[in-house]
Amino acid sequence: LHNDQLSQWDRENFFHPSTHLAKHARGDMPTRVISGAKGVYIEDRDGKKLLDAFAGLYCVNVGYGRTEIAEAISAQAHELAYYHSYVGHGTEASITLAKMVMDRAPANMSKVYFGLGGSDANETNIKLLWYYNNILGRPKKKKIISRWRGYHGSGLVTGSLTGLELFHKKFDLPLDQVIHTEAPYYFRRDDLDMSEADFTNHCVQKLEELIAREGAENIAGFIGEPVLGTGGIVPPPEGYWPAIQAVLKKHDILLISDEVVTGFGRTGSMMGSTHYGMEPDIITIAKGLTSAYAPLSGSIVSDKVWKVLEDGTDEFGPIGHGWTYSAHPIGAAAGVANLKLIDDLNLIENNTVTGDYLRAGFMERLGDHPNVGDIRGVGMLAAIEFVEEKQGRKFFDPSKTVGAQVSAALAAKGVIGRAMPQGDILGFAPPFCLTKDEADIVITNTEMAVREVLG
Ligand code: PLP
Repeated sequence: LHNDQLSQWDRENFFHPSTHLAKHARGDMPTRVISGAKGVYIEDRDGKKLLDAFAGLYCVNVGYGRTEIAEAISAQAHELAYYHSYVGHGTEASITLAKMVMDRAPANMSKVYFGLGGSDANETNIKLLWYYNNILGRPKKKKIISRWRGYHGSGLVTGSLTGLELFHKKFDLPLDQVIHTEAPYYFRRDDLDMSEADFTNHCVQKLEELIAREGAENIAGFIGEPVLGTGGIVPPPEGYWPAIQAVLKKHDILLISDEVVTGFGRTGSMMGSTHYGMEPDIITIAKGLTSAYAPLSGSIVSDKVWKVLEDGTDEFGPIGHGWTYSAHPIGAAAGVANLKLIDDLNLIENNTVTGDYLRAGFMERLGDHPNVGDIRGVGMLAAIEFVEEKQGRKFFDPSKTVGAQVSAALAAKGVIGRAMPQGDILGFAPPFCLTKDEADIVITNTEMAVREVLG
């Protein structure tokens, strides 16, 4: 097919996610058609190669073109493309993957339920919290606390949990059951004189106030990403998770650790929750479970939650929850091959080494730039936040779209870094196999892009 034909079909037929629909339909936003990929590089139909320093949407963790995973998918499709996992059925791939996931989960976790993507997994998690409290005879305990700038998906409940304005606007969200608390975003604190430890105390105090206002007897759970992802790639302030967890325990509010981004190694630890001393009751997994070679997600539940669910079905009958594609064998086969590859190639260790190298490079080249306010990250995650003036931390007017301009200048140089949706933040989440030489390409081109846009 000729590129012009594809563009026309694209404009006429394709409703793209998270896109300015009018600009796309008018042709003001040409679609880059990706045709192939290998390692950390993707290639478009015009033959342009780009170093994908965002691993798709922080998901192609083992890198592109892994034949081990492609072959596992192909073998599964030939042998058994589909069978469901309802009422006493399963497949070798789904059962093996469940075992591999639980071997990698924290010790107090009991079982994994499989879904398709992060949004549906979080939808499952909220239903499980409600089910749990109903079984325990606490039907009022329903509200869920999420954080401003959290990202948990874009369904009705999950879009409500997401604390980014774009995902609420004109959708009449958030739903009443979802309430938001302070984002653990030290760089954007109101009081610039506040220390990081004091900022953690401030977040704890805000949470306590919210719980007091709503009543702990009405609150089922708290959901958070170990590291804020789409909200700006923000590692938590010092001592944040243990302090938050203590409040939640005191009020019998369960903790969901949304590890769609951080699960399976992105922070340099197997799970982001372990990295930050969290003891979640439920863990959400998706992206890194299969490195996006096939759609698959999961909800890992703790012994404590599992016991209640188990007893509940003895009393009330089978749980009325499941999707046709839960534990899809092709996704499961991809997951098994992917988790094995991560171990075999020691990819999680590389995240700490090369991720540190990447951030150190940004710091060395851009740390003194007058418009670079913050350089942060952990493992294979990094972000550069731009400011109009460092003194007094004055942010740019959002209409100047500085982050988007830097990201576009970087793409023109052949490197993909993501302009995060709220604030002038350039995000990086490369595949775990990124080498130091490839990190150098990211660093050099990022410096050039920043200087081109901001001087
Ligand atoms: N949770 C987190 C932390 C995410 O980053 C995402 C997606 O980026 C989701 C949930 C939603 O996952 P999905 O887009 O697969 O529905």
